[in-house]
Amino acid sequence: MTGTDALLSDWHTHSNQTDGADSIPAMADAALLAGLNIWGLSDHVRASSDWLDEYHREVRALRRGDLDIRCGLETKLLNTAGDLDLPVRLPTLDYLLLADHQFPGESGPLGPSTVRAQLERGERRGEDVIADLITATVNGLAKSPFPPIVAHLFSLLPKMGLDESLVTDEHVDALAAACLANGGAVEINEKWRCPSSRVAVRLAQSGVPITCGTDAHSVGAVASRDYIDSVLAGGGITPTHGVGTQQALADEPRLS
Ligand SMILES: [Zn+2]
Ligand SMILES: [Zn+2]
Repeated sequence: MTGTDALLSDWHTHSNQTDGADSIPAMADAALLAGLNIWGLSDHVRASSDWLDEYHREVRALRRGDLDIRCGLETKLLNTAGDLDLPVRLPTLDYLLLADHQFPGESGPLGPSTVRAQLERGERRGEDVIADLITATVNGLAKSPFPPIVAHLFSLLPKMGLDESLVTDEHVDALAAACLANGGAVEINEKWRCPSSRVAVRLAQSGVPITCGTDAHSVGAVASRDYIDSVLAGGGITPTHGVGTQQALADEPRLS
């Protein structure tokens, strides 16, 4: 089927392990109840996170009928070099969401309000901010230790007083090339309603796998989607279900 999600998937959800409202088992129940075929839990990881093995064990042990359960995490892009906010030691994940929670500047993350002020004072140009964001994402895709999914692409732009009008086709094509080179995907995000249809369609036409992510932080938001469906249907995009399907042989913690 084109433009529809024949298998319902939601790769971007959070439990109360981090900033979600509900427990991991409750989120799994909600995913099953919502009729999802594929559900991924993607709680927020930082370099200091010390709960990852327990989280990984709990997600791997979940069983909910025929629901295909994937274990992921969401990490932050730190800088234009594409360094990721991850501890050295990680359990084996099915995928990793790469997020622009802060502006990944050349010398490290900057809050969007700081960048906005710099733009207003003329200390930075919008074009350069977009270029740095693209560079960080391209480099982050190459550095991801697990199959990467670019989360809520360009959600940071409005927080910095920018929009996608400064995003050129060349930017999108650079991102597409990095995804294709590194087995990466890009999500359509329900919560932040991004990226735009223009960007999503161009990525999909370049062969970039597109995933669906609600960014649910409570059971009620799991699989709840409106923006995702409008972008999929409007662009004739069929979402992928292949991210991280090559399950690791062992679930043992590994060095990365
Ligand atoms: Zn996020
Ligand atoms: Zn999230």
